[in-house]
Amino acid sequence: MAECCCGKKKTVLLYACSGGANVAEVADRVCRELMFAGEGTMFCLAGLGAGIQGMVQTAKDADVNLVIDGCPMDCARKVFDQAGVKGYKYFKVTDLGIEKVKGVRCTQEQVNTVMAKAREVLAQA
Ligand code: SF4
Repeated sequence: MAECCCGKKKTVLLYACSGGANVAEVADRVCRELMFAGEGTMFCLAGLGAGIQGMVQTAKDADVNLVIDGCPMDCARKVFDQAGVKGYKYFKVTDLGIEKVKGVRCTQEQVNTVMAKAREVLAQA
């Protein structure tokens, strides 16, 4: 997890659109791998979508929210906007040249590509 200037650990929350397509699987896997590597905590996007106020507040209170969407439908970003959580970091998998395909698994190479982008965004957060 990142540190702020005073040495305190930042609260970094990670969200993926976690849809059915390969690009959503990549987003989901990257959030989990970052969590298992100790670089943040994956949090439930569906809870924000459901309007669970405690979960919305948790997102608002975090130092960093990283939101990863699979494709230009921007489902996760729209959930954040509807929940009124501002200042989140964001990117989408298809912007990294990964094609959206339904019914196939993502590849490790795709996970590596998105992981590198996520770490780049977190390093600037
Ligand atoms: S952003 Fe795209 S891949 Fe992700 S849930 Fe929405 S439609 Fe599916």
